[in-house]
Amino acid sequence: MMLKQKGEHGIVLAGRPYHLDPMINHGISQMIAAAGFHVLTEDSIAHLGDVRGLRVVNQWSYHSRLYAAARIAAKTPELEFVQLNSFGCGLDAIDTDQVEEIMNQYNRLYTCLKIDEGDNLGAIRIRIRSLKAAIKERTEKQVRPEKLYDNPTPVKFTKEMKKQKYTLLLPMLSPIHQHKLVDVALRASGYNVVNLPVQDRRSVDVGTRFVNNDACYPAIISIGQMVEALQSGKYDLDHTAVMMSQTGGGCRATNYVPLIRKALKDAGFGQVPVVSISLGNQGVETTPGFTFTLPLVKRVSIAFLYGDLFERLVYHTRPYEVEKGQVNALYEDWLNRVRPNVENGSFKEFKRNVAAIVHDFDTVPQRSVVKPKVGVVGEILVKYSPIANNDIVGTIEAEGAEAVVPDIVGFMNYSLYNQVYRHRHLGAKKSSEIFAEVLLKLIRQAEKPMDEALRASDRFEGITPWEDVVAGAKPVLSLGNMTGEGWFLPAEMVELLRSGVNNIVCMQPFGCLPNHIVGKGMLKELRREYKGANLMPIDYDPGASVVNQLNRIRLMMATAKKGLAQESVKQS
Ligand code: SF4
Repeated sequence: MMLKQKGEHGIVLAGRPYHLDPMINHGISQMIAAAGFHVLTEDSIAHLGDVRGLRVVNQWSYHSRLYAAARIAAKTPELEFVQLNSFGCGLDAIDTDQVEEIMNQYNRLYTCLKIDEGDNLGAIRIRIRSLKAAIKERTEKQVRPEKLYDNPTPVKFTKEMKKQKYTLLLPMLSPIHQHKLVDVALRASGYNVVNLPVQDRRSVDVGTRFVNNDACYPAIISIGQMVEALQSGKYDLDHTAVMMSQTGGGCRATNYVPLIRKALKDAGFGQVPVVSISLGNQGVETTPGFTFTLPLVKRVSIAFLYGDLFERLVYHTRPYEVEKGQVNALYEDWLNRVRPNVENGSFKEFKRNVAAIVHDFDTVPQRSVVKPKVGVVGEILVKYSPIANNDIVGTIEAEGAEAVVPDIVGFMNYSLYNQVYRHRHLGAKKSSEIFAEVLLKLIRQAEKPMDEALRASDRFEGITPWEDVVAGAKPVLSLGNMTGEGWFLPAEMVELLRSGVNNIVCMQPFGCLPNHIVGKGMLKELRREYKGANLMPIDYDPGASVVNQLNRIRLMMATAKKGLAQESVKQS
């Protein structure tokens, strides 16, 4: 009111609570005031706004205040909106885009100032001067806030679309689980699924064009794959949808689908529906055309179990094969032979097949050489996707070692176990604990034939009981760490170390805050607890140099080989 009467302008200077510290904000508020504007915090007006109809999932309290304040500023001619954004803040990859959309919707300017520890404010001063000039020009031209458009209704995948056999594009997370397994299971359940390519570096470039570059690497890769496929001209765009599995939780993963929708719209594919697959995790959306029926659950479970089995068998035998290509040929052969079982979802047949598969890999000819074993852990996409990790398994094998990659089912156990923890310690509903406990038991039951066949073999180890995995993490960190891979990441490292795999590559996407804490952040404690642990953290991002990653792996391999040599001297 006062601003209106005096014909003056105010700037809502939004920032996280720590941005109030002048050491952090470098005195930007004074700079704005010196430019002739009144300065307001987003807190001071947030209570006047609303947060309905946002594109994103509104899951953080600061973001909520931010969106509400932006709505008020967008509708008020005397207010402008400037947001402080710390360099590399991945969460702001979600909210800066959303705030910009709010301002654009009302034909208003949006200014985002990226700040870091550097106190050279020349660039920021220029931005504020430009903003002042733009405000002057718009005032002279009498540009008023006006709503230009309504937010589009999200396009959902419907039952009708399923009947019409829409093509569903599935980004490649883990080839050994998806190729001829998960895709077969979903197709047998009535979904016309197509796996996106295994090796496709171009998708990273496409992803960086359509996803905020502060978003995490897995989002950039997955969305890049989708957009690239849609641009390829191979698919009928009016009968194609994209799929994404969602775990939800405290980090950006909950906002995967809104990120996808924005990228699709910006790339000109706004009509393409998004199929969100989740086990009803809080905050993630449902998809009317995709339902978990019992036959689907059985088929998909069997597909993942076969994937885990092949991963164990192939990675443990291929580095020692007598004839090059022998193990891959055996794997391809079995992949074709298990197809009918993935389609029929029969656990009896699964049990029979598992025994025969383990027998075949147990007797495939091997050279008697000793190679160091290298465990591979990390954020789920970076761990399994060769696009993201520049084929870490191939690299380890080429460097003369054996890769040990933990089962993907472990991640599912982790997601379920968190429901149990939430009920016991964080007041979540009893029903979610019961649901999770039942599923955990069913998974254990389903894994049993695999475990028995592996234990009965000469070459392979059985599956570590889930209780032992949980117990392994407890001395290292609280099980309350449930964001990202949470406590499960160190639990996997403990499992590997206890099984004699002392060399571990711990991979995380650059900017993945949770996994830096529970991955890299735990290495010191693990080294203290497990003498001889050779742990190598490696960051992956769109620009990370492959040479750099390779050098780090080679450094770790040199220590691994030295350790192996010392071990054999001791034994001889
Ligand atoms: S865990 Fe890390 S990589 Fe995954 S969504 Fe969260 S921040 Fe991104």
